[in-house]
Amino acid sequence: MDSKPIRERRRRPHEPTTRDLTDLNRRLYATERRLRQVEAALNEVARRSGGVSVSHPCTRCGGSLLVVVDGELRCPACGVRERL
Ligand SMILES: [Zn+2]
Repeated sequence: MDSKPIRERRRRPHEPTTRDLTDLNRRLYATERRLRQVEAALNEVARRSGGVSVSHPCTRCGGSLLVVVDGELRCPACGVRERL
């Protein structure tokens, strides 16, 4: 068996440049803005549909906000249902 140590290439972690951080900040701002737009539209759609509302994030999977319908909290992502 070859006991020669495997030579590892030591790579320095990528250090972000100012340009990277500026770009990241711009993308984060755009994503947060988009999220607020989607939440506002979703709440309006839920309000207009009657009997449906949007609640807090699913504590089971975190994949979606829970939807309140017919006296139940439902998660569209994992399917969990809880009676209110
Ligand atoms: Zn879920």
